[in-house]
Amino acid sequence: MSKTSLTRKLQDVDSVPAAVTPPAHPTETSFVRKPKLTTGKSRKRDIPEGLWQKCPKCATMLYDKELDANLKVCLKCGHHFAIGSRERIHSLVETCTFEEMDAGMTSVDVLKFTGVATYTSKLEAYKKSTGLKDAVITGVGTIGTQRVALGVMDFSFLGGSMGSVVGEKLTRVIEAGTDKGLPVVIISTSGGARMYEGMFSLMQMAKTSAALAYHARNKLPYISVLTHPTTAGVMASYASLGDLIIAEPGAMIGFAGPRVIKDTTQAELPPGFQTAEFLLEHGLIDAIVPRKELKDALCGYLGALMAGHRREQAA
Ligand SMILES: [Zn+2]
Repeated sequence: MSKTSLTRKLQDVDSVPAAVTPPAHPTETSFVRKPKLTTGKSRKRDIPEGLWQKCPKCATMLYDKELDANLKVCLKCGHHFAIGSRERIHSLVETCTFEEMDAGMTSVDVLKFTGVATYTSKLEAYKKSTGLKDAVITGVGTIGTQRVALGVMDFSFLGGSMGSVVGEKLTRVIEAGTDKGLPVVIISTSGGARMYEGMFSLMQMAKTSAALAYHARNKLPYISVLTHPTTAGVMASYASLGDLIIAEPGAMIGFAGPRVIKDTTQAELPPGFQTAEFLLEHGLIDAIVPRKELKDALCGYLGALMAGHRREQAA
């Protein structure tokens, strides 16, 4: 039978359903279908799932994954977004070298504080939303080739406020550094003392400062890294006690807020007041280091400071 006659014959019986069993599964015939234009995962032009953020400085829309890959620094203008404590540790410490300390330590509502909500309910809500137990992660890890006692604060947990847990965890990691002969690095971000713990939070200022004094007595270095924002009780204690004080670009650093200072002094504040750049110019901090250069900078500083420490021990 020729091809033409078959076609003609089929045309003659086109009212009869085709005697072909429909496929049990649609994928059986997928090789003859046109590829769907909307679901191809390899196509770059597809709009990817995820969130976008607008840079508050240059108004560029930034794709979250790219922002994460760039350590939460704007790809266009270099604005430093807040970065979580775990991401920060991941960016600084060599893989598999971080041994966390006091990971399960949590605050207790000693004062039975009740404001808009109880302190206990606040703590529970923040633990759930951040996956953290409190506003600092501490432990010992290796940066470059140097073992370091490290504390990294997290602003997302109750504004990085310093309560008993933050104070105790930092004191313990400083003491571990002193015992093991390691340098201490603390990366701060905080709104200050935690009002829910009243006097107990203020006592952390003295406790952490005392631990750092013992550390200094052993001629061991302490590097303080200030990130946006570092203020009030934290700035008035361990954050300002570094042998070296480094800040991230554009970080707001101070004790009281600018409005309070303006009201108290009745004076106009200079432009750029309480920024890292202003404080570098006026000698309160030693260097401004962009986030992506922090690891290399710490390696350099730690190497030099520990070489000095070893020379002194040998003498
Ligand atoms: Zn930007």
